[in-house]
Amino acid sequence: MHLLITGSVGTGKTSLSNILGAKLNIEVIHISDLIIDQKLYKQYDELFDSYIPDEDRIIQYFKEKIISKHKDFIIDHHSFDIFSNKFLDLTIVLHSDLKVLKQRLSLRQYSEKKIDENLQCEIMDVVADEAYRRFKNILELTNDTNEDQAKNIDIIIMALNKLKSAQKE
Ligand code: ADP
Ligand code: MN
Repeated sequence: MHLLITGSVGTGKTSLSNILGAKLNIEVIHISDLIIDQKLYKQYDELFDSYIPDEDRIIQYFKEKIISKHKDFIIDHHSFDIFSNKFLDLTIVLHSDLKVLKQRLSLRQYSEKKIDENLQCEIMDVVADEAYRRFKNILELTNDTNEDQAKNIDIIIMALNKLKSAQKE
């Protein structure tokens, strides 16, 4: 099973994917870490304080290291220009209330500009919009509280089980 956990920055992708990965004993790939660890970037952008991903090399990485071995994995990423439908069985789009999101982003000590940009992303629903354009199996989940997180884990596991039994038929 290949699962993508996505959503605006701060919606809880990394936390949720780690818990889910541990529970299901599946490898979790945090794309932002992968880009730095494997040097899959073109350059460092000082203005935006971020690395510019080298998409071709990321795709190549997935093809060689993972897809070819047919291993299960969970991808944690805030966008997914690099992934196509054929790579993924299920896409989870996380959402958070704007007040909650603002609080989480402030805790990260982001600049006001960076906080505003990320809030705009959630307001405009950029991630979900893009997901529906690319993927077929999509679940949108609210992820504001710890209770939400526990509930979301159960929902995702149920959805994966359903997909698995459908694949067997
Ligand atoms: P993302 O990877 O989407 O940017 P993180 O998983 O890093 O988000 O979460 C951002 C912050 O919000 C972290 O401090 C995390 O502990 C907290 N958090 C994530 N999910 C929840 C949740 N469901 N309830 C409460 N706090 C959460
Ligand atoms: Mn994250």
